[in-house]
Amino acid sequence: MSTHTPEPPSPRFIREARRRIAAARAIAVLTGAGMSADSGVPTFRGATGLWRTHRAEELATPEAFSRDPRLVWEWYDWRRGLIAAARPNAGHDALAVLERFVEQRGGRFTLITQNVDGLHTEAGSRRPLELHGNIWMMRCTACHAVSTDRRVPLPLAPELPACARCGGLLRPHIVWFGESLDPTIIQSAVDAATACDLLLVIGTSGVVQPAASLASMAREAGAWVVEVNPERSAGPAVHCWLAGRAADIVPRLLPEALQAGRKGISEA
Ligand code: NAD
Repeated sequence: MSTHTPEPPSPRFIREARRRIAAARAIAVLTGAGMSADSGVPTFRGATGLWRTHRAEELATPEAFSRDPRLVWEWYDWRRGLIAAARPNAGHDALAVLERFVEQRGGRFTLITQNVDGLHTEAGSRRPLELHGNIWMMRCTACHAVSTDRRVPLPLAPELPACARCGGLLRPHIVWFGESLDPTIIQSAVDAATACDLLLVIGTSGVVQPAASLASMAREAGAWVVEVNPERSAGPAVHCWLAGRAADIVPRLLPEALQAGRKGISEA
């Protein structure tokens, strides 16, 4: 990531995005690691993206897990520790508020996230489509049972976690590089992206497929696409880039009716 500070987005662009959000009947939102950066959860591609000199792409793979499951579990344990200490930021909160606003008016709101940290749910978003799984859930490598118990013990016990049903080795319930997404979840995401009036793309570098294609699918289907990111990342599909941090910008995009009484939102 480059270190330059982008120009703050023009108030006119913020107003335009806010107006379109208030008018939209169907909104889809795609979030990536940058959404949680303001909560203190490091992104993979930022300056803090290395752990013990390993890159995420070397650890979040089925091959790495077969080779050295303890190393991969230790990395996830480190990440779970960071996430356990993190709280949803003002951007997560604003999306939960927006979901209620849109649904109360009879509109459709779909939150699609590449994040595995569970912070959207913690902020009150009701049904995020978690494309890449959830770091608090585990899956058995033998019988494939998924644990829905989000309280994986921290720190990692000396013995690697074993399945309560069959004793098999458990792995994080995460879609690793090279693995396929749950077809039902990705289909729901594609349906939402191609049926929305407006797609909000927040904090994703746009390099991990198939999430990276959702913006172009949405635009081709007629949606207006707005990106919130300090770096312009989501490619040519974007109509409007709001350069800045999610926790700063997203609350300012809430419709006027929701802004009244909210503290700390600067006028645009
Ligand atoms: P990425 O690490 O590739 O890119 C992060 C993006 O966020 C960059 O474009 C960066 O410019 C932007 N960004 C940084 N700070 C920001 C801020 N404060 N506000 C808004 N944007 C900001 O992340 P990705 O595109 O989500 O893809 C990487 C993969 O990493 C995904 O599969 C995801 O599952 C996983 N991941 C998840 C988490 C998490 O759950 N919090 C954290 C790291 C990585």
